[in-house]
Amino acid sequence: MAVGEFELIARYFQQQNLQRDDVLVGIGDDGAVLTVAPGKQLVVAMDTLVAGVHFPEQASPFDIGYKALAVNLSDLAAMGAEPAWFTLALTLPEADEAWLQEFSRGLFTLARRHMVQLVGGDTTRGPLTITVQAHGFVSDKVAMRRSTARAGDRIYVTGPLGDAALALQSVLGKVALPEEHSESLLQRLHRPTPRVTAGLALRGLTSSCIDISDGLLADLGHICSASKVGAVIRLADIPLSEGMRAAGIDPYPLALSGGDDYELLCTIPPGLIKTLERALYDMNVQLHCIGEIEAGSGVRCLDQSGAPYQSAASGYQHFQPE
Ligand code: ADP
Ligand code: MG
Repeated sequence: MAVGEFELIARYFQQQNLQRDDVLVGIGDDGAVLTVAPGKQLVVAMDTLVAGVHFPEQASPFDIGYKALAVNLSDLAAMGAEPAWFTLALTLPEADEAWLQEFSRGLFTLARRHMVQLVGGDTTRGPLTITVQAHGFVSDKVAMRRSTARAGDRIYVTGPLGDAALALQSVLGKVALPEEHSESLLQRLHRPTPRVTAGLALRGLTSSCIDISDGLLADLGHICSASKVGAVIRLADIPLSEGMRAAGIDPYPLALSGGDDYELLCTIPPGLIKTLERALYDMNVQLHCIGEIEAGSGVRCLDQSGAPYQSAASGYQHFQPE
């Protein structure tokens, strides 16, 4: 059954089990009115998911809703921001109620987990496209940037790499996933966990941070070019999941160049490593040291024997240069 635009907004987006004190006016007026506490700065991130580009047309609407918010919370996490609000621009080919029900359930499942409230949006008709803009807070001067890594800093990641790319290969029919890990690998693709807690814990301890959305080499490359430094990565130290190890394929092309993992990658000055380890001890945040920042430019990799490793692929780009 189809519903009208206003009925749709009221039914699927205005009803939320979450009402933050800092939302003075939410959905329903011409704009939202929001309070930013003194001494806090607002961090704003936006990401769009297009059907057929970021997910297959027939993907589960629950997963689409979940992932649309997850990728934005991941950007806030990479800045060290505490998530607060989000807006949603939704373009739909038709107002399919079963689809909307599941989409909003996926969206709000993750929203409640992070106490982030939907405060407005826009609804239009057209090819399925979802844009979320997320807003979060940092205190004075502690937002983590890409441009501030220094030679000698250690490079850390918050979890295993390549799982989402492996799962995507299986969705495309190119590899079979090991049976007992298939569920968890597919979750890594369809319902990525934004590393919000890790991002908050890392504030003030990192020299730079980014989330891995386009692949380790590509995203570390962004830190290197923004910071005017180079980096060396040891393949042997890259964390791999049990599912990846059981897949029976070479994990490194996926772990280095596969996108969609949404782990954080950060650099830590050597003098702060002890403080960092103490801070993370109680927080259940994983960190794996995979290499170092060095003078120069570009990212080089060393294989298990310490010899240079040549990677074939680079990260995903929408407008691939010639
Ligand atoms: P206007 O015509 O003033 O732009 P709209 O009709 O687009 O207003 O939206 C009415 C209200 O519903 C606004 O508060 C807007 O933020 C909200 N809204 C519209 N679409 C969505 C959506 N997909 N999710 C959440 N809020 C929405
Ligand atoms: Mg509008």
